[in-house]
Amino acid sequence: MKSRSVWVLLILLFAILFFIYKFWSQPAKAEFAFYPMGGVPCRIVIYTDDSASAAKQAKEVQDEVERLEDIFNNYRPSSEVSRLNGSPANQWLSVSSEMYTMLERSIAWYGKTTGAFDITVAPVIDVWKEAAKENKLQADSAIKDALKRVGSSKITISPEKGVEFAVNDMELDFGGIAKGYILDKMGEKLEKNGTDKYVVSCGGDVRMRGKDEFRVGIQEPGKKEGELMMVLKIPSGAVVTSGHYERYFTVDGKNYSHIIDPKTGQPVPTDLASITIVAKDTTDADALATAVAVLGFDKAVEFLNSGDTYKAVLLKKAGNGFEIYYSKALSGSLEYKGRWANILHKEF
Ligand code: AMP
Ligand code: MG
Repeated sequence: MKSRSVWVLLILLFAILFFIYKFWSQPAKAEFAFYPMGGVPCRIVIYTDDSASAAKQAKEVQDEVERLEDIFNNYRPSSEVSRLNGSPANQWLSVSSEMYTMLERSIAWYGKTTGAFDITVAPVIDVWKEAAKENKLQADSAIKDALKRVGSSKITISPEKGVEFAVNDMELDFGGIAKGYILDKMGEKLEKNGTDKYVVSCGGDVRMRGKDEFRVGIQEPGKKEGELMMVLKIPSGAVVTSGHYERYFTVDGKNYSHIIDPKTGQPVPTDLASITIVAKDTTDADALATAVAVLGFDKAVEFLNSGDTYKAVLLKKAGNGFEIYYSKALSGSLEYKGRWANILHKEF
């Protein structure tokens, strides 16, 4: 009996020492904030005790973002994408290797989502921007006309020759995928510099790497940053959230989604209030989050359940409230906050 008590005591002591060690051995965190892509709040968190090296790395990451914006930001007149846009049809245009990679990945997503994700949707977006500016819905003929210049099947790419448009005045818009790609590149930069635990985020999109589990907050739709609907507890990977509540076109007092169905030229319905994709990297998660908004709930669930690569949390409007649907594989990873614990949750 006596020796048993000693053993229990020893085990207890060991457990306490282990927890103290775990606590103290956590490396310090170095955090950096910056606002690229026209003011998107981005954050770099590096787990290290070496704050000087972390600051140097963060600077390199910011330079990397600046470099990528010079390729993919279509709001920058000098960017590579701006130079390609509006080019005449039927002639090869040379592209950088990163532009080629992005075109290849975007076109692959066009195929995988049967045209829901389409980087050529910009001419229709221009019509909706005009509607918002004039505060007046544009004629159907304007959308029909713009749709003639939409469709990723109208672009051909070749690793040697670059890109070719099949009709005049096509426009590429990487708004649905570039943020994800930039986050992957930010992470890869840190990894190349030897960082093995970090979190990089821009807006609601996050990429994290490291041995431990991460906690990623998902915002309540329409609420300012900081108000959480739930926390996702997941290992290394990517979490991207797409919603209609941050950016939209307002015409005559009505808000229209900034995501366009490339088949109809119409903004997508907003019954999926928030779409969160969990994947290995942010590029794919970003493209898929945009595509899910176009596919709608039923087709999206069918796509997500056709493999086990992508997982999702979908917030669906129901009456005056919401319902939460999530991939079965995430069932143990969700922690609901406040009133969100009491609404309907269902796995798919
Ligand atoms: P996200 O916030 O990632 O869902 O991306 C939205 C942005 O992607 C929009 O602001 C447009 O620039 C672009 N976009 C809109 N509709 C589509 C679509 N169907 N496919 C690809 N990109 C789109
Ligand atoms: Mg996206």
